[in-house]
Amino acid sequence: MAQVIIVGDGPAGLSAALFLARGGHQVVVFGEDDTAMHYALLHNYLGIPEIGGTEFQRIARDQVSAAGVALRDEEVTAVRREGDGFAVEAGGAEERGDYLVLAGGKAAQRLAEELGAQRRDGTVVIDTEYRTDVHGLYAVGRVARPNRSQAVISAGAGATAALDILAREAGRDVTDWDTPPPE
Ligand SMILES: Cc1cc2nc3c(=O)[nH]c(=O)nc-3n(C[C@H](O)[C@H](O)[C@H](O)COP(=O)(O)OP(=O)(O)OC[C@H]3O[C@@H](n4cnc5c(N)ncnc54)[C@H](O)[C@@H]3O)c2cc1C
Repeated sequence: MAQVIIVGDGPAGLSAALFLARGGHQVVVFGEDDTAMHYALLHNYLGIPEIGGTEFQRIARDQVSAAGVALRDEEVTAVRREGDGFAVEAGGAEERGDYLVLAGGKAAQRLAEELGAQRRDGTVVIDTEYRTDVHGLYAVGRVARPNRSQAVISAGAGATAALDILAREAGRDVTDWDTPPPE
């Protein structure tokens, strides 16, 4: 079982957390529920004709908690490499993870910089799986696409990064597919 730290509790971070917890990994999400979603009224999240961003966040937080994710209402103030993994500082304590997912919106650029991740034009560089060039470090959502940010894109980015971590841990491609019970 891997220990995954997620910095940021908007759609990107919570979506990554959901997939990783369902995949059997230990997940901690840091964030103070201060996402831009609280300003949004969504009409463009496929499958949900209309929902307030605050309501969306409430449902999402309940969903990831029920899946076993630890939501920590704290700001991550510093990050560093520790061995093959990462250590983050929050609330005067340190947490260690094998993987670190930066999902903190624009504010997380500083953390990417602290870890020496490659940046271009002020934005962290990622590949199609949202990996940075630092092994085990991902950047998803608004932090990676600051000027083209949409809730559904952030949620998809979080899921994509999570599947990549699940695949790395399993040593094969992984999907999270469910089917309805037989009638
Ligand atoms: C007025 C407004 C209206 C919008 N309307 C829509 C809309 O209609 N449809 C739509 O799709 N999108 C809309 N958006 C955009 C949408 O809110 C964003 O696309 C979405 O919130 C991005 O999600 P994210 O998870 O990438 O980042 P964010 O939602 O920005 O979440 C990042 C979270 O990480 C936290 N964080 C940052 N740094 C740290 C740290 N060091 N430690 C701990 N936590 C940290 C932040 O406080 C925040 O809670 C709107 C945005 C605004 C401002």
